[in-house]
Amino acid sequence: MLAPVDSNSQKKMRMPEGHVLHRAARLQGKRFNGHALSVSSPQGRFSDEAKQLDGQTLETIFAKGKHIFYRFESDDTMHVHLGLFGKYRLNKPPFPEPSPNCRVLMETDENQLHLAGPNQCRILDAGEVDDVLARLGPDPIINASGDREEFISRMHKKKVPVGRALMDQNLMAGVGNVYRSELLFQIGVHPWRKANELDPETLGELWDQSVAELKAGERVGKIVTVEPSDVGAQKRSELTKTESLYAYKRHGDPCRRCETLIRHADIDGRNAWWCPTCQPK
Ligand SMILES: [Zn+2]
Repeated sequence: MLAPVDSNSQKKMRMPEGHVLHRAARLQGKRFNGHALSVSSPQGRFSDEAKQLDGQTLETIFAKGKHIFYRFESDDTMHVHLGLFGKYRLNKPPFPEPSPNCRVLMETDENQLHLAGPNQCRILDAGEVDDVLARLGPDPIINASGDREEFISRMHKKKVPVGRALMDQNLMAGVGNVYRSELLFQIGVHPWRKANELDPETLGELWDQSVAELKAGERVGKIVTVEPSDVGAQKRSELTKTESLYAYKRHGDPCRRCETLIRHADIDGRNAWWCPTCQPK
């Protein structure tokens, strides 16, 4: 059964995947870590919390999966989940006027961070942060010791299509709809194969591919998965936007490796894309 093609098809409406949050944490951290911040909420929906944080030194910004955390000297931590509409802007002086929907404005003399439209934005204590982190599966960008084994073990217990399991943030944190289709294409696994029927070697390969691709996405700030030689190029940086993906939203177009037409179908309300030849059932 075919679903309407990705109702979130406008680029602006795409849910950011883990690489976006890790990159935001790294780039914002360079500007704000170790600084006392002026914090306000021009929109007003975060005013009490902003008062609590105002004037405190920000110790660190870190991400896990699609969540980002700002830990202040008091151990108060601002937790943000951007969702579909959340958007950051980093500004240099002279700072522009904040927009009326600016939930959080953080400033030093040199830098301004403007956050609008997050799905979640709240202050957590240390225990609550641990609870959020504990609910998330291993994150391939963090790739801590033991994460690969943990991922294989969690996936091996799931009698659901691997295309669904990959979107479950409790099993792997950070993968969204684009990486799901691309990673499964790259390892040659059909999205409807049951996760528990994949052997440990294949699951290990899926983890390793996720580490490589999400880290690359974090470095360049976009998702480019295509091997340059598959489109007659030398380097990934040479690929145009329409050459950057193998499967995602390419239904009806020929596979870049075998020319079979890419297909798509709905899993839990979100389309998944695959090549029937490169990813046999
Ligand atoms: Zn193919």
